[in-house]
Amino acid sequence: MLNFSFQNATHIYFGEGQIKALSNAIPKDAKVLVTYGGGSIKTNGVYDQVVAALAEHSWFEFAGIEPNPSYATLMKAQALIEQHDIDYLLAVGGGSVIDGTKFIAAAALYDGADPWDIIAQGAEIKSALPIGCVLTLPATGSESNTAAVVTRDGHKLPFRNDLVRPAFAVLDPAVTLSLSDRQISNGVVDAFVHTVEQYLTYSVNAKVQDRFAEGLLQTLIEEGPKALAADTKNDLAVRANIMWAASMALNGLIGAGVPQDWATHMIGHELTGAYGIDHARTLSIVLPAILKIRTEAKRDKLLQYAERVWQLTDGTEAVRIQRAIELTEEFFVAMQLPTRLMDVNLDETHIDGLIESLTQHGMVQLGEHGDITPDVSREILRLALV
Ligand code: NAP
Ligand code: FE
Repeated sequence: MLNFSFQNATHIYFGEGQIKALSNAIPKDAKVLVTYGGGSIKTNGVYDQVVAALAEHSWFEFAGIEPNPSYATLMKAQALIEQHDIDYLLAVGGGSVIDGTKFIAAAALYDGADPWDIIAQGAEIKSALPIGCVLTLPATGSESNTAAVVTRDGHKLPFRNDLVRPAFAVLDPAVTLSLSDRQISNGVVDAFVHTVEQYLTYSVNAKVQDRFAEGLLQTLIEEGPKALAADTKNDLAVRANIMWAASMALNGLIGAGVPQDWATHMIGHELTGAYGIDHARTLSIVLPAILKIRTEAKRDKLLQYAERVWQLTDGTEAVRIQRAIELTEEFFVAMQLPTRLMDVNLDETHIDGLIESLTQHGMVQLGEHGDITPDVSREILRLALV
């Protein structure tokens, strides 16, 4: 196991009816800005629950944070923050709203000329407004992690900072019942790929992290399809297991003390930045190709994955690995996601541009060994074509 330091201070309020906890989770003297997206919270009752819970607070609202939140939208919140002396942010939504709110929190107290430098130049964040959140879409783990992804003019880039980790997160599985099948599928596969990117690397004999990761993968494989099937999709136990699995997949726990990959995410961000493809749909296309091209580098863990996650014990090592990758693809297909660039109407002619922007964004040493160069990324995208 590698050395690590681990702390996750996000207070989780989990379960039906927990939005009420907002009332005590946010200091009573705070001036709160409630941030949200395109309005789903107004039709599924979440907004009303938040308003009821904030009855004793002074609060304002900022709506319109779009999927893959844009710098331009997020910067519009700054005027409201100044105008009302806002000192607490409450994000109500999915990963986009929470990520966007993390950027708003850092930008509000940034002392440089342009907060975009936090992302583009790695400029230091010295302080940030505190954040709480109500999660409405299980997927990203953003509700209790330090990461956020923001897009500016087609450049989709991540940043990470301890200062933007939410102080608390409300996870009520009942609020996920209004999600479309497409968003449920996206969420399950995003969480699956987060787990894979911290697990399917090389062995450092981290047995606890491995078995946590395998448990999360098995849970997502079992429960994901149930959240799409007519007779089980409204089962709150299914939703609860998906919600907690997605949160645990990227809250720092399974990633502590192990190598991490993230090449699938970084290549996937280029596909979203350039073509607006849903985040998870880029991952379901890129991951299978990465596993095929990186079979040698990942051999031991692929065999462990085949045996422990897919119960594959027969046949040669090569057969077991190939079958595990096939089953991974079949799972993505069962979750109604694309697995090839062809499925999203992209072909060979799009690859050069993607490699160019990957290079421009400095994503030139990807993977757990840092040896996925732009040439290897090109091979990966080629393999993902058809
Ligand atoms: P999202 O972009 O936040 O939301 C997608 C759609 O789902 C939106 O239209 C949203 O509508 C709707 N929605 C959310 N909750 C709903 C509900 N309960 N009922 C009905 N509709 C609902 O999706 P996401 O997958 O959670 O977030 C994706 C973003 O997170 C991407 O930008 C991705 O790159 C990023 N990400 C971040 C991390 C991280 O660690 N921070 C990790 C992976 C990915 P409204 O607009 O009305 O809310
Ligand atoms: Fe993700």
